[in-house]
Amino acid sequence: MKVDTVIVGSGSAGLSALREVRRYTEDFLLINDGHWGTTCAAVGCMPSKALIEAANAFHRRLDLNEFGISGADGLHADIPAVLRRVRKMRDDFVEGPKSMPDKLGDRAITGRARLLGPDRIEVNGDEIEARAIILAPGSSPVVPGPWEKFGDRILTTDTLFEQTDLPPRIAVVGMGAIGVEMAQALARLGLNVAGFDAANEVAGIDDARVLNAFRPLIEAEMTLALGAPADLEEAGASIRVKGHSTSFDADVVLAAMGRRPNVDDLGLETLGVPLDDTGLPEVDPVTLRIGDLPVFFAGDANGYRPLLHEAADEGHIAARMAAPEAPEGGLCRRTPLTIVFSAPQVARVGLPLSDMGDHDIVSGCADFSTQGRARMAQTAAGVLRVHADRETGRLLGAEMCVPSAEHLSHLLALAIEQEMTVDDILAMPFYHPVLEEGLRSALRDLAKQVPAKGGSDLSSCKELGHDALE
Ligand SMILES: Cc1cc2nc3c(=O)[nH]c(=O)nc-3n(C[C@H](O)[C@H](O)[C@H](O)COP(=O)(O)OP(=O)(O)OC[C@H]3O[C@@H](n4cnc5c(N)ncnc54)[C@H](O)[C@@H]3O)c2cc1C
Repeated sequence: MKVDTVIVGSGSAGLSALREVRRYTEDFLLINDGHWGTTCAAVGCMPSKALIEAANAFHRRLDLNEFGISGADGLHADIPAVLRRVRKMRDDFVEGPKSMPDKLGDRAITGRARLLGPDRIEVNGDEIEARAIILAPGSSPVVPGPWEKFGDRILTTDTLFEQTDLPPRIAVVGMGAIGVEMAQALARLGLNVAGFDAANEVAGIDDARVLNAFRPLIEAEMTLALGAPADLEEAGASIRVKGHSTSFDADVVLAAMGRRPNVDDLGLETLGVPLDDTGLPEVDPVTLRIGDLPVFFAGDANGYRPLLHEAADEGHIAARMAAPEAPEGGLCRRTPLTIVFSAPQVARVGLPLSDMGDHDIVSGCADFSTQGRARMAQTAAGVLRVHADRETGRLLGAEMCVPSAEHLSHLLALAIEQEMTVDDILAMPFYHPVLEEGLRSALRDLAKQVPAKGGSDLSSCKELGHDALE
């Protein structure tokens, strides 16, 4: 068979690629192995956030007395009902992507694709020749081989939401974004949770001051053992998990040590380009092209930015660059943005602090444990740090663990994307009383250290000497 474009993987990257490919041709094939629901909708972003919402709703009972509302002691979380709701929502979210084979007819193939070269691919025993190939095979949870002996007592996010009930003691190994989100949610639902990680960081936090603020908050809700790899052994009916100075007997263990690109047996070695230790080729982030081949590599599988909006962008870029009339040079990438849906939420925008080495930077900080609006909501906690170039005052990045970080980080992403200086942002209106005033405190702290700063938030009124906001 001969076609113009083949897309491998019908996840968020593959489906985004499909939309763009269809702008230039209907002569395509979309090949997908396994379910067609996408990782995001079936086992990723959506069910995890549905679980977190239930957990946070139940956790709210602990604040009610403080608000003057009594009677919350009688509330209990019905875990099977919570999980049923998660699956019901999940079933709705997967409806769209699952309908692709019906919509595309024989242009959609269920099967595992394997490259035979830069312009040939095999699926279900058929060989297909293509002008362009877009690879978007996604990633899968990492489970160490020796853990297989524990059978179904090892859960991953592929199986967690399928459980009809959960036992009382859960160890979560891996305290990155997904591990922290799930561990805190399960703890907030009333389960006894212990979190383990070989590293000393949690939630992927880069800035030590943000980490120092976040760690005790998460530690207050669960046992936390950081700084040593977790070791698992049988202990009667339990799994004993040993970590740094901690031993925890668990009924089940959630493996959250990261995700591995689905490249085993994808045939990348047939492309004739160098592969790194993990079996991945080098990919240009603005073209997603592998070398100068007509092969493009998008989404989680390339390991560049394994996030939903990035996967969708990468599918889009790959398809644009795979088009016969591809734009010169590639497409630009957006300002990096990551959010962890913990409480308080963790977010990072722009460059991580540890990558700002080339810049002479100044930093501003705001303590959200005293932030007025957050105190009213009983959510006051955490810090927000912003960083700018000392000479120009241009904002470079921010990291935070604060309530509603999902919104504050979007605001900062917009500012960074627009190349705004700290002056520019402070000239925007800030309503009262809002969480954004906490962001403004960090920006004012930052502005004090930028020599070029004019001395007033109302930058356009400088001639009048308007200093009302100082
Ligand atoms: C628990 C969890 C929570 C998450 N939360 C968030 C979040 O809050 N925000 C966020 O931005 N991101 C989140 N993510 C990450 C996000 O889900 C992924 O970045 C995104 O789904 C990746 O999309 P993709 O298209 O690269 O891969 P996928 O959606 O995994 O699609 C890849 C498809 O390719 C198929 N495939 C693999 N190999 C082959 C082959 N050889 N032949 C044919 N088909 C193949 C796979 O079966 C799969 O269907 C989360 C992930 C998890 C697991």
